[in-house]
Amino acid sequence: MTAQKIAIVGLGKIAKDQHLPSISRHDGFDLAAIASRSASGLDVPTYEDLETLLKSEADITAIALCVPPQVRYDLARLALEHKKDVLLEKPPGATLAEVHDLIRLADENGCVLYATWHSRHAMGVAGAKAWLAGRTPTSGRITWREDVKHWHPGQKWIWEAGGVGVFDPGINALSILTEIMPVDLHITAAELTFPENCDTPIAADIDFQGPKGFAMKADFDWRQTGKQTWEIEVETTDGTILLRDGGATVLIDGKEVSSDEALASEYDGIYAHFADLLASRTSDVDLSPLVHVADAFMLGKRVTTEAFYDEQ
Ligand code: NAP
Repeated sequence: MTAQKIAIVGLGKIAKDQHLPSISRHDGFDLAAIASRSASGLDVPTYEDLETLLKSEADITAIALCVPPQVRYDLARLALEHKKDVLLEKPPGATLAEVHDLIRLADENGCVLYATWHSRHAMGVAGAKAWLAGRTPTSGRITWREDVKHWHPGQKWIWEAGGVGVFDPGINALSILTEIMPVDLHITAAELTFPENCDTPIAADIDFQGPKGFAMKADFDWRQTGKQTWEIEVETTDGTILLRDGGATVLIDGKEVSSDEALASEYDGIYAHFADLLASRTSDVDLSPLVHVADAFMLGKRVTTEAFYDEQ
């Protein structure tokens, strides 16, 4: 198998923590270049922007976009216009319409477009989906509470319009929910709490509704210090399933049935899936988690809270 020559755009936290190690562990990929506004002295060719990279590295076939969502569309468009296959970090875009445009462009140009949802590769997710298939959910809850200062130190873009605030981690829960639930849900109400100095929310309370009276509440909060909580619980007519640790651990009726290794395995899962998509020349763009985020912003009542300062 010839390794695909891949380039990374945006050498920030997730590119360094997850993409670089997962690419290096996968035989099907060869990191051939990086586009970065800030990085230097790396042992791969590094360019100041994607345009320069594309001019200089004609044999690169795939681009992984690890930049914030607000700047992703123009870069994805540029890569697709150069007939490159494109991997999008989550969320796949700042709006739904721009991602629809990328789907169309990828299709016209014969490119593979992959909108990644890393939490769907957590160890417990596939098993939870299989357990829920054919069961009848009656109620549920999502608790996704973490410390923004710990996980996103100094990141300004998450507080700027399009950065989605607490939905940046919250969409991970929504990506698991939309993967495992055997029925479609929709949001009926939301309350979004904005710091008075920010364009995006620091917390969100969301109500979901589904068939046969199913009701679910989601509690997203970025102000949790100490123990961090990433849980989804679904009650059914035939037992209760609880995903803990972001989908890494699963309990059925209180009894643990699987456990995880590390977040790295989620990104190994992403690159394994990308390799399959490239081999079959198939795109994978599921927008259902982003639809819920857009609906929460459309329906959400806005509450203002004290200013947020990212002092360390
Ligand atoms: P980050 O640390 O802020 O890195 C983003 C990088 O993108 C920057 O370091 C910069 O790299 C580049 N960039 C280009 N234009 C930019 C702009 N206008 N503003 C800021 N950065 C710009 O963010 P991140 O945490 O890696 O997140 C990037 C994406 O990955 C987001 O969509 C996020 O939701 C997703 N993600 C993050 C995590 C996580 O744990 N942090 C987990 C999963 C997914 P250069 O200086 O090299 O150009």
